[in-house]
Amino acid sequence: MKPALCTVLLFFLSVSAATQQRTVLVRLFWQHPPTEIRVTPDGASLRTCENCAATRLSGPLEIAAKASSVSAGSISDSVVLLRGRARISGDGFSPFMVENELRIQARDDLLLLTLTLPLEQYVTAVLQGESANFKSDEALKAMAVAARTYAVHFGSRHRLEGFDFCDTTHCQDLRLGNESPRARAAVAATEGELLWFEGRLAATYYHRSCGGEIEDARALEPDLHVPYLRRHHDDYCIRTPDEWHAQISKSDLSRALGRPVTTVTVAARSDSGRVQRLLVSDRSMTATDFRFAIGRALGWDKLRSDLYQEEDLGDRLVFRGRGQGHGVGLCQAGAEIMGEQGRSYREILAFYYLGTAVGINAQGLSWEKLPGESLDLMTTNRDDAAVLLPAAERALRFAIERTGWDLRARPLVKVYPTVAIYRDATGEPGWVAASTLGNVIRLQPISTLQRTHSLGSTLGHEFLHMLIESKARPETPLWLREGLAIYLSNPESAKPSKVDVDMLERQLHSLQNEEQMRAAYRACAGAVADAVEKNGLNTVLSSLNTPRSTKSPL
Ligand SMILES: [Zn+2]
Ligand SMILES: [Zn+2]
Repeated sequence: MKPALCTVLLFFLSVSAATQQRTVLVRLFWQHPPTEIRVTPDGASLRTCENCAATRLSGPLEIAAKASSVSAGSISDSVVLLRGRARISGDGFSPFMVENELRIQARDDLLLLTLTLPLEQYVTAVLQGESANFKSDEALKAMAVAARTYAVHFGSRHRLEGFDFCDTTHCQDLRLGNESPRARAAVAATEGELLWFEGRLAATYYHRSCGGEIEDARALEPDLHVPYLRRHHDDYCIRTPDEWHAQISKSDLSRALGRPVTTVTVAARSDSGRVQRLLVSDRSMTATDFRFAIGRALGWDKLRSDLYQEEDLGDRLVFRGRGQGHGVGLCQAGAEIMGEQGRSYREILAFYYLGTAVGINAQGLSWEKLPGESLDLMTTNRDDAAVLLPAAERALRFAIERTGWDLRARPLVKVYPTVAIYRDATGEPGWVAASTLGNVIRLQPISTLQRTHSLGSTLGHEFLHMLIESKARPETPLWLREGLAIYLSNPESAKPSKVDVDMLERQLHSLQNEEQMRAAYRACAGAVADAVEKNGLNTVLSSLNTPRSTKSPL
């Protein structure tokens, strides 16, 4: 990854457990496991248990199931773990990249593949599976919040089988490998956002189209009494009702149900008009079982919903219906129309999940902008302002005094409620206390910074960066930007040192870990202190916006 020029790293925190990104375990090809796959490594390795020695892969490798063992080159074991970047390809699916861990097991000559995915990547893959044809970006964002909330709310649906979610509509349909830039953008724009009802995560059911009538949640889950999943009209999708009709011969129906079918009559409907129970040759059956039996045997495009009228034509039955799916929660067809009419994703979510609120924390609170004297604060917790606003004002004055410069744009300090959300939203590792992008400083939770007594110094450093970036030119080297910010924070403590700045510059572009970063930043400060000793601070400061090469910066 190319380091963003304005992204700054300084105070290193030891927060390990809290910095873990939320991940989910997804069983790939749940319904149709492959017998073999091809792995094309890009830095990946194989091992046969958590702590076993790793075999680094140097070229493509076929992995196949042999009864209940996995054969991968010279390795044959009951489980094989693939770690690191690799491309997975095979018959009947689009190739996709894996970066975390892929656990490979075998059963009955079939490969069972369980992929570890960061939550946000999982949501992107779900959007690709469930909403790839969406035209409205706001509808896509609404789906991102719904899909993310669904995953977090329902948690590990397949825990007993050793993973969290399957890759079908049983959980959420998932497509790896072709994630579109629009799906990625919708996920990024709503990063970490969940849907809440009275402080609890909402059960965000969704479906393809309701045919104009949203169904009550109890039609799906009899025990689910939630006010936000009530029956109501969908004035949006009804304008282009998703109508369908299906003809099914009684012999096909008999085959699908596994017994002779002579008559089919509707026995009960819900308030929304959906069929609940049927009498099939005088035997009672739920509409869901009926639809699933037909779907499995004759295809899912026959009975697309339970919202239909049936007609007996002697040797065959005709079904005329509307909508697709169970009709509970968000109607994707209606969401699309709302988005195309200029409604925001929050409005879309509020329409389909009545009385809920979008938020990144349990209170359902969202970002709030609180104005200070010379800067603004973005927070999810108003209480932050009492500590943060005065500290930020002080730090800004400090940075202005040190440089003698002023800011053109009003700064914004954005403080994240948790380290995990900070990490997910900024892409920074958890040991980076803050980063600055343009006029926005993005901070870890105040409690984390207070615990390490680094709130004031972190803010001071970030404001110095903001000032430095406002003066710097695109070609201004990173070492000078970073070194100046560290040097100006505390000029007395920077020891002048002779540094090969070309080599340092290259290192700064490929930092791998915290240790390398600390060493590189010390070198930046040393190089700047050396330049100040030789040329004076004013010359060094004015060198920021004078065009010059990295080779002889001063
Ligand atoms: Zn599932
Ligand atoms: Zn609808």
